[in-house]
Amino acid sequence: MHVPMQDLRSQHRRLSGEIDSALAEVFDSQRFIGGPVVARFEAEFAALQACAFAVGCGSGSDALWLALRALGVGSGDEVICPAYSMVATASSVALLGARPVFADIDPATYTITPESVRAASTRCTRLRALMPVDLFGQCADPPGFAALARELGVAFVADAAQSVAALDAGGAPSGRRSSLACFSFYPTKNVGADGDAGIVVGNDPELIEQVRSLGNLGVSGEGSGYSRIGINSRLDALQAAILGVKLRHLESWTAARRENAAFYDEVFARAGALGSERPLAEGGLPLRTPRAPAAPARHVYHHYAIRVPAGDRDALRRFLADRAIETALYYPRGLHREPCFSDLDSPGLPETESASRETLVLPVHAELAKEQREHVAESVVRYFAA
Ligand SMILES: *Cc1c(COP(=O)(O)O)cnc(C)c1O
Repeated sequence: MHVPMQDLRSQHRRLSGEIDSALAEVFDSQRFIGGPVVARFEAEFAALQACAFAVGCGSGSDALWLALRALGVGSGDEVICPAYSMVATASSVALLGARPVFADIDPATYTITPESVRAASTRCTRLRALMPVDLFGQCADPPGFAALARELGVAFVADAAQSVAALDAGGAPSGRRSSLACFSFYPTKNVGADGDAGIVVGNDPELIEQVRSLGNLGVSGEGSGYSRIGINSRLDALQAAILGVKLRHLESWTAARRENAAFYDEVFARAGALGSERPLAEGGLPLRTPRAPAAPARHVYHHYAIRVPAGDRDALRRFLADRAIETALYYPRGLHREPCFSDLDSPGLPETESASRETLVLPVHAELAKEQREHVAESVVRYFAA
């Protein structure tokens, strides 16, 4: 039985009627940039995040760049972020002439922590912002970061690319707790466009106006010319139309991902997997499941990541591939080990490094059939039983 990491084709097949009529509306209007369909999607997404405003843009990477730029991050500044993330987290900082300062992660949640941020801040002289990443769909400790950013006198930007529909420890949507939060609609994200797209959300009208202007070539308002130098990064109306359709299905997709994750948790626990708090060496099945935060927090499982001993990780991956089960490595190395960031001369990040050796991502998408997830779980357990 083949188990793919994603099954966007069957998702599309189910939605194609709705998508076709949403696209027809855009073609009829011939309003491809901006216009009512984009405005409607922005309003819906802002409401989903319990934020006053949302500004669509060309990608999640652009969203990060725009948010940091709007917050005044520039040449010589420093931004604390994780190295255990997708490259755009740190490249958005570097593209502004600023320096990403990497904080280590909590091995159970894969997110940076107030403690690791505090440690990284001692290496900073011009710290301007904290940028935690809600990795794999779990909010990085929110009350802690908001308070810490205030204490350090810096901005708090959320890289929420993987956490759409996630709730933080206080039960608030992942986009709500920072000055600006950035989401990606890359096709394989929990809500994906049919191409590249992203969005920035926030509550401060001036900041949001800057984001909008920076992504629209620096235009200020009608007739007032170009007050700043911006880029062209706008949300296409065709993508907004597709995303508007998909947003209506997000709750059921999130529920399906969470149910798949709960199923894995249960099978692995029954087979003797360790809780995520206990070290791998303690005996039992040498596998750790993700730590699910207690309600009202909500993990949305953009990825279901297990930890296995480094020596087993690649062998388990091959074992699963032989059984037609796709898996993925997020992330095979920390960003501090990427050649493009070698000039940062970053210190070692022990938790990031062991996570990159031990983490394996299993299929958890909403289209996964019961037999498929059973096949995955049973195969993982069988690898260790052999
Ligand atoms: C996907 C992703 C991005 C970038 O989004 P794009 O839309 O692909 O540009 C940034 N940060 C994280 C953590 C991501 O997962």
